[in-house]
Amino acid sequence: MSKGFLLVLSGPSGSGKGTVSEALMKRNDNISFSTSVTTRMPRPGEVNGENYFFTSIDEFETMVEQDELLEYAFVHTNYYGTPKKFVFDEIEKGEIVLLEIDVQGALQVKERYKEAVFIFLLPPTMAELKNRLILRDTETEEEINTRFKNAFKELDFVGEYDYFVVNNKVENAVHNIETIIEAEKLRVKRHKDIKAEVMMEKGEIE
Ligand code: 5GP
Repeated sequence: MSKGFLLVLSGPSGSGKGTVSEALMKRNDNISFSTSVTTRMPRPGEVNGENYFFTSIDEFETMVEQDELLEYAFVHTNYYGTPKKFVFDEIEKGEIVLLEIDVQGALQVKERYKEAVFIFLLPPTMAELKNRLILRDTETEEEINTRFKNAFKELDFVGEYDYFVVNNKVENAVHNIETIIEAEKLRVKRHKDIKAEVMMEKGEIE
């Protein structure tokens, strides 16, 4: 059995991170989704505690002061952060913990938690990304333009990641992420004692 680990998924707004994460979670019950805290207002249909923990700026700042966040960042126009306790409790249980966070947050995780796996999700083209942002109709035109501009900046950081996955089709992207997970589970460093595992399976341990 491999130890639990952190899976960090980033990608520009409109790359389809939300859809891909949801499909990935549905098919893999050993992956736990880390629900972030945000100061952004809920969108129609978003549920507190499910999509995000929606909070005030004051509450967010208190969490930062009390060192309750593994990472946090100001993204587009709001604060977002990852509650630390949940992540480490799940890893301790042997779970894979999925963090769907921006590039700034991913870089902080990279500093603090070296064993994490970093995946960058790309749209097939930038034109398609703009199209998706317009079609999902959840932001104003100004917000869409901010997100589109930020997308170009975020692409500069793809070199900091371990893997990239192109989201041309959700099933393909999910399949590629599952393949990455399978390979990561076979990393020698993710196992305490491989010899003991093998002997246990063969019933050779007394
Ligand atoms: P949205 O407002 O569309 O839900 O998310 C905006 C951006 O914030 C996305 O790129 C998303 O990945 C990022 N984000 C969501 N949660 C977190 C978090 O906990 N930390 C960081 N650094 N970014 C986050």
